[in-house]
Amino acid sequence: MPKVYDKVTSDIKPEWLKIRLHSDERFGEVAKIVEKHALHTICSSGMCPNKAECWSRRTATFMILGDICTRGCKFCATKTGKALPIDKDEPQRVADSIRLMGLKHAVITSVTRDDLPDGGAVQWAAVVRAVRQANPETTIEVLIPDLDARPEWIDIILEAHPDITGHNIETVERLTPEVRSRAQYRTSLVTLRHIAERGMIAKSGLMVGLGETEEEVLRTLDDLAEVGCKIVTIGQYLRPTQQHWPVAEYVTPGKFNWYKERALERGFAYVASAPLVRSSYLAEQALEYCRKGKEKIHGERGL
Ligand code: SF4
Repeated sequence: MPKVYDKVTSDIKPEWLKIRLHSDERFGEVAKIVEKHALHTICSSGMCPNKAECWSRRTATFMILGDICTRGCKFCATKTGKALPIDKDEPQRVADSIRLMGLKHAVITSVTRDDLPDGGAVQWAAVVRAVRQANPETTIEVLIPDLDARPEWIDIILEAHPDITGHNIETVERLTPEVRSRAQYRTSLVTLRHIAERGMIAKSGLMVGLGETEEEVLRTLDDLAEVGCKIVTIGQYLRPTQQHWPVAEYVTPGKFNWYKERALERGFAYVASAPLVRSSYLAEQALEYCRKGKEKIHGERGL
């Protein structure tokens, strides 16, 4: 019989989830660049708790292919509905914004575009190439949808040579049909395996606190390691609105550390596991880590 987490409380946010709301002038500069170039960020669309901190450090995660997703996952704050037409100028605008922000490491994600005949892969590749051309020193991380695990679509993106290619498994297998829309746990694993088999750095992330058990998290880590993922992130699920999936529990920082140790035992090159970790939080450290082959990194919040 699997164990459940140490319960904290499901209603009152614990101390360790209190977030920094202070922002400085660099926050305003990032906001202006994003607005001026009519771009979307998952920082805003996803109501990320780290926005003040990341934007003040001049990092942001761009969201391409519009801000309307064709799926409707129960944990996600991104708008859902009829998606917008492809914006041909988007690759250049993303590239220009990254240059203006002076990013050393750029993270790009997208909504899921089940309506497009290539899942959005061609636009994805155009964005990566435009960013590379305008920012030759910047490393590029892409966080892609599952693309229905179609190798020919995934390859279109991989041929643009992002430095890290991620796809989030999001949750354990049992909860996937309940909280993810249309997505399947096994399809995500096939997508990740394909990325790794092409010799790319594969990354994935999951949220905890949705009602999964400890054993289920460990099994998910086993599955991610088995398909060749090198980087994994684990963070606390926070309910964006009352209409979203409820938080089942707040996982303690000690338990996050325990998960980190279990993940490192499974051979991941880099593991970020802490309450406020999101897949793009301090993402540049993961790349540095993979390249240098270090075993530990001590960033903010005990990463
Ligand atoms: S963690 Fe990622 S999504 Fe959240 S604010 Fe930072 S860059 Fe944006």
